[in-house]
Amino acid sequence: MSGELSPQATPSEQGYEGALRPGSLAEFVGQAKVRRQLGLLLDAASMRGHTPDHILLAGPPGLGKTTLSMIVATELDKPLHQTSGPAIQHAGDLAAVLSALTPGEVLFIDEIHRMARSAEEMLYLAMEDFKVDIMVGKGAGATSVPLELSPFTLVGATTRAGLLPNPLRDRFGFTAHLEFYAEDELASVVRRAAGLLDFALSEQGIDEIASRSRGTPRIANRLLRRVRDYCLVHETPGDTESVRAALALYDVDANGLDRLDREVLRAVVERFAGGPVGLSTLAVSVGEEAETIESVVEPFLVRTGLLTRTPRGRIATRLGWEHVGIVPPPAASG
Ligand code: ADP
Repeated sequence: MSGELSPQATPSEQGYEGALRPGSLAEFVGQAKVRRQLGLLLDAASMRGHTPDHILLAGPPGLGKTTLSMIVATELDKPLHQTSGPAIQHAGDLAAVLSALTPGEVLFIDEIHRMARSAEEMLYLAMEDFKVDIMVGKGAGATSVPLELSPFTLVGATTRAGLLPNPLRDRFGFTAHLEFYAEDELASVVRRAAGLLDFALSEQGIDEIASRSRGTPRIANRLLRRVRDYCLVHETPGDTESVRAALALYDVDANGLDRLDREVLRAVVERFAGGPVGLSTLAVSVGEEAETIESVVEPFLVRTGLLTRTPRGRIATRLGWEHVGIVPPPAASG
């Protein structure tokens, strides 16, 4: 997958992302239901003067989980401590974070499904009773010492809600499932970001970027920055033509497919007569890791109706054949 359409942020992008993050629920585009639910939870907590229930944000990368955790802290007017599952490899790592929290602080744990098991168990008690048991000493002489914590709000984010153990999932009072964004919502994201970057982009240009962004604000913002670079260097106005030329340079087609997406689709159609073809055979045929095909390429091709996954293997739909520019045989599905 070329970098342009990856839903993950590269380290060098994080500065840009910070500048484009909406700072309040009112500025957060789309996800209307989640915004209303979260708004109610936060308002009620503020009115009662209590910390709100713990919040789980579930959904694919790039849809606004980190942004929402920051908004929760801002709306509660409390500091935010950010960490991630992979950074918590021992219960001790978590104990250090929890014991340093100030009253009401918001603790954001990204990729919470990747936290160490021992830390997970410590987190259950911390979430429920704002307490942890710290083990002191080793072997037969080890004793557990209870430690009171300041009340805090945990915001957990996960791309794989199904991987969370039930006891952990049950301790979140509110779970928000973030959905891919509709094109008009993505257009609002692009319009807002273009304004912040002081880049004049036509309405058609905005729509053109939105339609190629795979339902993902992070990708929309990234494509916007590439178009802005293109217009600066080529001294062209921010119109549809510039958007098309810039995105053609990065191999992003009109439906938001990149080179690898098209190669996979083309392989299914041309080399395997439309399928069914197994994942590993397909991966070898395009010279890519099976994992990349399964986690990045396929979900988008399936979501856009170009490919289906069946127990017998991957099959190109009628739309998939047409996308590759080949008339499907009468039996092609979809
Ligand atoms: P996640 O944590 O789910 O991977 P982020 O919160 O880091 O995603 O969001 C990625 C980028 O997309 C950020 O730059 C953010 O500004 C932008 N973004 C995400 N959701 C929205 C939204 N609803 N409105 C405007 N921008 C958004």
